Amino acid sequence: MPFIEILGQDQPLGQLSRAFVTGRLAHAYLFEGPDGVGKSMSARALARILLCPRKGEKCKCETCQLVLEDRHPLVRTYGLAKNSRNIGVDAIRDDLIPFFNLKSAPGEYKMAIIDPADALSPEAANMLLKTLEEPGEWSLLVLLTRTAQALLPTIRSRCQCVRFGRIPEPLIADRLMTKMDITREHARVVAKLSCGSVGRALELAGKDFSAWRVRALDAYAELLASETGPVETAAKFLEIAGKSAKGLQERRVELQHLLGILLTYLRDLVIAREKYEGFLLHEDRPTLAQEAALLDEEQALAVFDRIIEAKDDIDRNVNMQIALEELCLDTSAIAGGAAGTSDRAAWNPHAAREPAKSKRLSTPEAGSWRAGND
Ligand SMILES: [Zn+2]
Repeated sequence: MPFIEILGQDQPLGQLSRAFVTGRLAHAYLFEGPDGVGKSMSARALARILLCPRKGEKCKCETCQLVLEDRHPLVRTYGLAKNSRNIGVDAIRDDLIPFFNLKSAPGEYKMAIIDPADALSPEAANMLLKTLEEPGEWSLLVLLTRTAQALLPTIRSRCQCVRFGRIPEPLIADRLMTKMDITREHARVVAKLSCGSVGRALELAGKDFSAWRVRALDAYAELLASETGPVETAAKFLEIAGKSAKGLQERRVELQHLLGILLTYLRDLVIAREKYEGFLLHEDRPTLAQEAALLDEEQALAVFDRIIEAKDDIDRNVNMQIALEELCLDTSAIAGGAAGTSDRAAWNPHAAREPAKSKRLSTPEAGSWRAGND
């Protein structure tokens, strides 16, 4: 079955295979799990199982090709159009419902995939309820979401939930090595930083990831050490994120990756302080132990929360430069830099370019700098 091509999801795919083999497929499924773990590939694999006459893995028949290219007439995908914030009611009322109402030959499935289902507008979700209550024969609806809690309880209760978990790191590393020309060491670090998402791992490994990560972490470490000002650091982040991005949207995605890497770095600073070296993600960063002295646990967690806020801001289409400058300013304040929150009203971005009171990593006071800032 085409499910075999999907990595590390034996449990959810076993659930679907059993349902198919025993003729007990539900009329609506909710695929729940993090991004990049194979939900969308699994939905297409399910479509191939339903429509392909051979149902074999790596099948290259016309049906399978059309499904994989999103061109099969019996498989429709509904997602976010460019620059739109939700999937509107018209997509459901004028397209999905008439599609499901088309008459099929017995056994000829029509499948609709909604990805992400949490982007359905309230009106669209309500319109979908009608379809869920009276599904046409040979119609299969698959909703994809990061978290089922984001959907209306009335929608959730009418779907069978299939949970997709994070993929184990060794499987991701092996997949990277078979797909790309990278060393085991590099594959291992990327797998660790991918947070269980093979999609993310492939994206990270696809760029000059080592150099990209080192630049981003160096810039942030310099900000924590007050060697670089917040505005300058924000500009560096924008430049790093913009380098491989083609348009505004790609730049946002790159920036989300960069902020995700900063989160893993903050986590490592806390772990390095506690000397749990075996659990480090950036274990290959030679200056990590020294950098861990720049923040105590409380400060690291405060910065961590602040990065999550910045990620949310960027998700909500806040101006990227403003979001980054505010993040860097607050980071500097939490870490004890001169551009503290109390100075914010009077903050002059040009003045802030001057390094604040430096906590250079090489000075003997590096471990006890907080005393002077409390
Ligand atoms: Zn096929």
